[in-house]
Amino acid sequence: MIEISTLFSGSSGNSTLIRTESCAILIDAGRNCKAVCEALHKLGMTLDDIRAVFVTHEHSDHISALDVMMRKRAIPIHVTEPSSRELCKKASAAQCAVIHKELCFTERVGDLTVTAFPLPHDSAANVGYVITCDDGDCAGVATDMGYPTQLCFERLRCCRQAVLEANHDPGMVKNGPYPRALKERILSRGGHLSNSDCAQLIMGLCECGMEKIMLAHLSLDNNTPDKAREAVSEGLSSIGLDDKVTVKVAWRDGPRTL
Ligand SMILES: [Zn+2]
Ligand SMILES: [Zn+2]
Repeated sequence: MIEISTLFSGSSGNSTLIRTESCAILIDAGRNCKAVCEALHKLGMTLDDIRAVFVTHEHSDHISALDVMMRKRAIPIHVTEPSSRELCKKASAAQCAVIHKELCFTERVGDLTVTAFPLPHDSAANVGYVITCDDGDCAGVATDMGYPTQLCFERLRCCRQAVLEANHDPGMVKNGPYPRALKERILSRGGHLSNSDCAQLIMGLCECGMEKIMLAHLSLDNNTPDKAREAVSEGLSSIGLDDKVTVKVAWRDGPRTL
């Protein structure tokens, strides 16, 4: 069985721990090495337990811990070729990079099979991941997407649980303090996923059998945990599934297990 924990989440940094009884990997490592190690420690783990890191994309909130982490312990960092250019500017991270030419690459780590798929975002590339355990259990991670694609839905529909982006409430973005260009970027098809688009995606996935969801990458200025949770609960109750699905909101500053 796969257990998912977000280590921290949001524009200040993202990292997700995926573990089974015999194997553990990280999806992304933002913030800094100290924050990653502290969060792992709270979950009873250390860097020595991490067998690989899979990077979604090169924005700093997803990779900023990696260089110092790799100086402490060399761990394979799987990254797509377009996103590797930024990562490889740092020597220690570059030495550990395993660069994949395909955005849909698959990699084996212990009892896990990790498969990437592309997501629409204004980075050199961005991927989500589906992680399948040899016992058949399946989990997904998909954040930093301007809109929910059919491919994203198709890849995630087999998953029992997932970490999904619920970035913003569009009304808060429009009426908020950000400059116009930044507002347009967040709301664009290369930006981030709104609560309502996230709810639509989740409704489809739960109709396919998804049981547990961690809402992640919430904007500090343009969302609240209550707004994100409400949007998803309303969607799930409209199809009679709100009491059958576990929905949690990732904590910004510390680990939370789904
Ligand atoms: Zn990003
Ligand atoms: Zn991000």
